[in-house]
Amino acid sequence: MDLDRRKFLLGSAGVAAATLTPMWLGADAAFAEPRPDGKIITSAVAMKYLRIGNARWSSKTAVRKSYAPAGVPLEEGQWPIAAIVSCADSRVQPDELFDLAPANLFVVRNAGNVIDDDVLGSLEYAVEHLGVTLIVAMGHSGCGAVKAAEAVITGGKMPGGHVDALVNHISPALKALPVGHSIDQAVAANAKQSRDLILSESSMLEEAKAKGELRIVGATYSIPTRKVAFL
Ligand SMILES: [Zn+2]
Repeated sequence: MDLDRRKFLLGSAGVAAATLTPMWLGADAAFAEPRPDGKIITSAVAMKYLRIGNARWSSKTAVRKSYAPAGVPLEEGQWPIAAIVSCADSRVQPDELFDLAPANLFVVRNAGNVIDDDVLGSLEYAVEHLGVTLIVAMGHSGCGAVKAAEAVITGGKMPGGHVDALVNHISPALKALPVGHSIDQAVAANAKQSRDLILSESSMLEEAKAKGELRIVGATYSIPTRKVAFL
């Protein structure tokens, strides 16, 4: 990616982003590369699109909105507005629950939304090559993978096979919780752990965040209410 172009242009106005102060940036990732349509999707813009999309989904007024550059054929590239790390649970479809059309979200999924090298590589690709400024690590209510880890840390046997790897990824988040915690608390703790691991395990993503080019948030999705809560 052309870092100079990404850092110093703000769309057709051509305003120099370099003149903006870190205080102005706050927690937002404001350095974003203009797309073919001239729009700039900062993390604040992406968060707004995710929030209003989920509001449509939860109120059952979904329209499958698209923010992809208008008039640009899909075969010419992709400009997703955010990357989502989600559980593979069949009831949790990120494109659907954020009410977005194809080519809008870069989604990485596995059981328990855990962070491993393949997930990190996918996220680094999304940030470095697709210009993504927002990553959401999202768990969900009643997660079977979290329940499996919960069963093990309360004295049960390991599930066996490669499911053990998932349990090993999730368990540290649960061990830090007080005795008697709820499954909702466990799901939130696991999502926060994934959020934090993205930064601590990837120097490339940590650097992007330090430069004001990336924001990473945790979230949980409630299957019964259809609502996403950002952590
Ligand atoms: Zn799950």
